[in-house]
Amino acid sequence: MVKILYVEDNFQNFRLVTRMLMREPEGYEIIQAPDGKTALKLAAEWRPDLILMDINLPDIDGEEVTRRIKANPDLQHIPVIALTANVMVGDRERYLEAGCDGYLGKPIMREQLREALHRFLSPNGKGKSKPGSNATAAPPPPRLRTAGQGNDRHPPTVE
Ligand code: MN
Repeated sequence: MVKILYVEDNFQNFRLVTRMLMREPEGYEIIQAPDGKTALKLAAEWRPDLILMDINLPDIDGEEVTRRIKANPDLQHIPVIALTANVMVGDRERYLEAGCDGYLGKPIMREQLREALHRFLSPNGKGKSKPGSNATAAPPPPRLRTAGQGNDRHPPTVE
């Protein structure tokens, strides 16, 4: 089971997202942290695979919770996706600066949530990529030219 910690003080939002994830074939286990302090405790004890982070929380705001998680060597590999409805100019940049790996606007859309989870939980996206890992990747197999691609006589130069 993929473990998701959803830091959210609004139970309706938590229930909505839980319903979305229960329908997914991957098998998600999702638990709620209703405030920042609980979020930090559960991140450390439960070790989720990914954290959905509401920014407006009753105690410590989501940015600060993210900063603390990303400052902890045991937890900093966990992807954090910020969630908020109040997107002002510069907000997105602030969330990323706080260490959030991604951002989703509210209301949460099922498709966007799925995409974000797949992106941050995929084997390639999970954890930090090792230096040089791209250099050792196998070259793509040669493409066979098939009917319908006849205009592609001068393929773009590969950098
Ligand atoms: Mn909130």
